[in-house]
Amino acid sequence: MTGPDTGPDTGPGPGPEGEPAVICPRCRSEHVETVTVAPRGGVWEVRQCTRCWYAWRTTEPAARTTPELFPEEFRLTGQSIESAPELPAVPPLLERPDGAAARAREERS
Ligand SMILES: [Zn+2]
Repeated sequence: MTGPDTGPDTGPGPGPEGEPAVICPRCRSEHVETVTVAPRGGVWEVRQCTRCWYAWRTTEPAARTTPELFPEEFRLTGQSIESAPELPAVPPLLERPDGAAARAREERS
């Protein structure tokens, strides 16, 4: 991908508490939230980017958690997010010849 990178040129600087700022591995946004923390010992966190909705656990491989190592073909920029089509809808269940899907719906209702 050769589009312009709209992310900041400078690396992540220290945050307000001296912690390095967390940036999204996929789109390099700094709008990252901690979704949850490991219940025992806090050994991992699940984080999610509020710009591109990429989510990752901190113990995943570096290629999933580190912007510099995230596969280039899967990276997003502000421009590519803006021009992205809407999320595809989940299609309705296919009807099987034996009507299994229809029967399952009737049983649930
Ligand atoms: Zn992102």
